[in-house]
Amino acid sequence: MHEMSLIAEMMNMVRESAAHNNITRISRIKLVVGKLTMAMPHSLRFAFHTMARDGLFQGTELLIEEREVAYQCCQCGEKYLPDMPYGQLCPNCGSKASHLLSGRELFVEYYEGDSGKGEENGANTHGN
Ligand SMILES: [Zn+2]
Repeated sequence: MHEMSLIAEMMNMVRESAAHNNITRISRIKLVVGKLTMAMPHSLRFAFHTMARDGLFQGTELLIEEREVAYQCCQCGEKYLPDMPYGQLCPNCGSKASHLLSGRELFVEYYEGDSGKGEENGANTHGN
């Protein structure tokens, strides 16, 4: 299952980052998922709750934001969605030259957790 490996990778990343920041429990993860990844939010959630067995992810809330697939025309700069009647042609000038603005992303926008000392802000990384 596609989503299982995506979530496993995401959890490893968060786990590593949490270890660096002395965070012992993650309270919330915000995930941004483009529709071109073909990952279904309900499958991502299911995968997460299946794998989130250890203390770090105890009671973690998983927020998922889906991003539409969007293109920007290289000729005129028009931004458009590819499922318009024009397909992947620019609806403004008809050009085929476009680049993907969004839709392929899959990343953790932020996560929140406790450092075990009752401090809310785990992202505080002051030097000594
Ligand atoms: Zn155009």
